[in-house]
Amino acid sequence: MPELPEVETVRRGLNKVLKGEEIAGVEVLRQLSIGHPDAKKFAKGLTGKAFTTVDRRGKYLLINFKDGSGLAVHLRMSGRLLFLKETKPKGKFLRVAFKLKSGKQLHFEDMRVFGRLWYKEPALSFEEIIPTLGELGVEPLEELTGSYLHKVFKNKKQPIKSALLDQRLIAGVGNIYADESLFRAKLHPQTLAGNVTLTECNRLAEEIISVLSQAIKLGGSSVRDYTDSDGVNGNYQNTAYVYGRKGYACRVCQTPIERVRIVGRSSHFCPSCQKRKGSR
Ligand SMILES: [Zn+2]
Repeated sequence: MPELPEVETVRRGLNKVLKGEEIAGVEVLRQLSIGHPDAKKFAKGLTGKAFTTVDRRGKYLLINFKDGSGLAVHLRMSGRLLFLKETKPKGKFLRVAFKLKSGKQLHFEDMRVFGRLWYKEPALSFEEIIPTLGELGVEPLEELTGSYLHKVFKNKKQPIKSALLDQRLIAGVGNIYADESLFRAKLHPQTLAGNVTLTECNRLAEEIISVLSQAIKLGGSSVRDYTDSDGVNGNYQNTAYVYGRKGYACRVCQTPIERVRIVGRSSHFCPSCQKRKGSR
């Protein structure tokens, strides 16, 4: 599933290529992919719009147009945006096609159809059409600190791994980067969030920021069928310490990496580098 670094990579790519482009026409091939309003109004509303900038909040892409309207995109499990410089045959999983006045195209493909696109009328805010946007926690690359983590983890009886995945606490961190950050901060994923000290929270905040920044530099991860806006796979996966490495030797101490399920999500860790404490 695309996480913050993948979405940020897409944002940067789109921000470059969409500047100055205008939408000539929109074809919705799958109504389910449209979150707001309905497919007909979505296509009509976006036709003729001129792109300005592309922002990101958590894993949401927020695309802005000259007249104050907007297009929000959440890729979820398998969504991807492809910027096509020339006409190509329609992909099997094409859900929405944007024809641009320049002759180029922007395709939204989504095998599993969990991804969503929302058209924002100029008078509305993105939060008004996507309520969960307003509930998102801090942006890790802009506002995350150890003392913030310590404050929101306080008294929490849930494993730190599941607290890290809670989008209302931190926006955009998913399974891969939660596992990687916990490894780097030497914290066992089943440690109860409320038992993590301020010193450990400081270390964890630093590692979250560092692992996300590194992944952005490498162009995100290619764990799933994720590609950036030009269709290029990311490279983060090859540098992971624990994610997807069950049974392989820890890159630090050679102990085999283990995998456990925590609140329904698989969690990878090194039992030697990440000693368990304060858990039952
Ligand atoms: Zn280790």
